[in-house]
Parts: sequence; structure tokens; C-alpha cells
Amino acid sequence: MALREEQILRYSRQILLREVGGRGQEKLLAGGVRLKAAGAAGLTAAAYVAAGGTAVESGPEPLGPGAEGFLVQAGEVGRSGSEVLERVLPELNADALPARGTGRLAELPAAWDGEGPWVALGGDGTRGAIVFRGADGCVECFEATTAALGALPSGALGVGLGALGALILQRLLIGLGPALGACGWEAPGLLTDLSMRRCGRCG
Ligand SMILES: [Zn+2]
Repeated sequence: MALREEQILRYSRQILLREVGGRGQEKLLAGGVRLKAAGAAGLTAAAYVAAGGTAVESGPEPLGPGAEGFLVQAGEVGRSGSEVLERVLPELNADALPARGTGRLAELPAAWDGEGPWVALGGDGTRGAIVFRGADGCVECFEATTAALGALPSGALGVGLGALGALILQRLLIGLGPALGACGWEAPGLLTDLSMRRCGRCG
């Protein structure tokens, strides 16, 4: 898939990043994720992923308090995420609307299927947590690690967690980084280690 002239202009800042480039941008445009999110972290991640050219298709879950931000107006809390995103995504980036790809981006708890990449947003005590898996990552280790996580942080910490989740998802779509991993996100914006739980086969 060759980039069109308006796409080269739209994505020029990320195309100029050595790790992305034209080929990486083509992969971001070819990819897509199904979103399951109701709050600040998931909707922030969706906004960044969509702005980068990757398709985002929301599930029907109602948007919760904290969802308002880049994509969602305050008056839309309580409405279906799919309904709101189908309306706002064409204004943000028309490249992000036609559903495609096998990615999953979800606030925990969530069910997981498809090839991936998968990015889970959750909480670990007072900090935010992200668990991610590319197509080659172990499904059982991913699920064991996400099962140990709790409720997501709200407010600014949730927004930052979402932005970080979008970046991790984009790296996986481009083919960068480990196929499985986890990290913590602490106030005021500090990336920390989070141990993976290992399944019986990998442990
Ligand atoms: Zn495993």
C-alpha cells in the first residue's frame, strides 16, 4: 500500500521518526484495533491510535465518567462507544474509520481473541499498568498477568496510561519491541517495571 500525498503530509512527523518511516506508516494504516473501553485511559489511547492512521472500532459498551476528552464530549457519557466513535472519527482522521485488522485494545477486565497485537490497560494498586502481546507472544502468560490486575487509574494518570498504551500498540503494529511484556505507570508520569506472571509452559 503506497502512501498518498495527503497521507505523507498528515503523518510527516511520525514518518520522519527513524523507527517509523514510510514502511512503518503503511503498517499503521493497514492495522486496526477493536476497542473495549469506557474511561479516560482507553479513550485517550483510541484517540492517539486513530490519529496515527490505525483503524479503531469501538464495542457497544456505554462510555463512563472520565471518557470525555479528545474524542468524547461531556454530554456523551452514558452513550454507546461505537455510536460516538463512528461519528467523531471521520472528523479526527478518516483513515481510522473503516474497520480492519486484528488488534485489541481494552480496559480490564476484558476477553481476548484474534491474532493481535493486544494491549490491556489496568491498574496495580495506585499505579496504572499495561500488558501487551504481539502475534508471537504467549496467550497464557498474557492472560495470567492481566488476571492479577485491578481497576484503572482515573484523571491525569489514566490519560497518561492511555497515551503510553497507544505508543506500545503502535510499536507492535510496526513490528518493534518484545512480543510480550508489561509495565507500570506511576504519578506524576514515571514508567516502572511490572513483572509478567508466567504460565506453566513458559515458567
Ligand atoms: Zn506462557
